[in-house]
Amino acid sequence: RMKETGGAGYILYDPSMDERKAERAALMGDLRGGLEREEFRLDYQPFVSAASGAIVGFEALMRWTHPVHGNVPPSEFIALAEETGTIVALGEWGLRTACRFAATWPDRSLSIAVNVSTVQIRHSNLVEVVKQALAESGLEVSRLELEITETAFLAATCESREVLDKLVELGVRLVLDDFGTGYSSLSYLRQFPLDKLKIDRSFTADLPGSQTDVSIVRTIVELGRHLGMTTIAEGVESPAQGDCLRRIGCEEFQGYLFGRPASAAQTLDLLEKASRQGSSAIV
Ligand code: C2E
Ligand code: MG
Ligand code: MG
Ligand code: MG
Repeated sequence: RMKETGGAGYILYDPSMDERKAERAALMGDLRGGLEREEFRLDYQPFVSAASGAIVGFEALMRWTHPVHGNVPPSEFIALAEETGTIVALGEWGLRTACRFAATWPDRSLSIAVNVSTVQIRHSNLVEVVKQALAESGLEVSRLELEITETAFLAATCESREVLDKLVELGVRLVLDDFGTGYSSLSYLRQFPLDKLKIDRSFTADLPGSQTDVSIVRTIVELGRHLGMTTIAEGVESPAQGDCLRRIGCEEFQGYLFGRPASAAQTLDLLEKASRQGSSAIV
């Protein structure tokens, strides 16, 4: 079947397109209720020091178990939540939950990294929300990292810049997530007060085989060093990738090689075991 596109020509009409649209709309409608019905949870994935292999922190990753559709991946529901604005409430819940959890860890030196959407930076009182999450949890501010994706910075206005400056004034550390993808502009590195560059998985995936990717990652790590930023590689799955990144001088790793995202209970278990053995947790 064909569908008219309004003078621009014809596209193939795909009946499943309407179904997908309807499903998206239904999921959008389910988001807020899902938050109230406690269908969301956070999993935690470790990131480690390249030098010692010790865990230096965990990233909180949001999960949604829909009563009908089961697990909806964040790559789907975060975008829907951003479109509907539910990300503001969802993000606040995530931030408070992650801070409260990290405050219970036996090792007070570990960081907790929370993903923050551009919508939260522009349309919520993020500074107040962060202050409250820290106050009610008792978490030391120096332990909190906020991960912001590079595309988010595209939309950065003066107000966004002000929000980020205030967060840094509080003592929160800012991480540029998925670095190198999207509309990477080096000027962001000048404009925003960043502490860490997180190298996107697409650049680590073909290490050490791809000479091009080795060069790109080496350049990012050098850039970070010159600008006083820590570099972390995401998606480290094999020892060969890890060796390559270590040689390049990347300081922190995250990926399945060191641990998959795990539940809060499993995460606390791991940390308590390490604490009983009097060591820092090594995965
Ligand atoms: P991200 O922040 O870049 O998170 C890293 C993603 O890579 C996670 O996917 C993680 O499970 C996955 N990953 C980690 N190590 C490996 C590996 O070795 N191999 C492979 N193949 N994948 C790995 P996940 O959990 O599906 O999250 C996808 C994205 O959803 C996140 O990307 C982030 O942008 C967004 N997201 C997740 N939770 C939140 C949240 O609470 N708030 C916001 N705003 N966004 C979130
Ligand atoms: Mg992230
Ligand atoms: Mg990332
Ligand atoms: Mg990513």
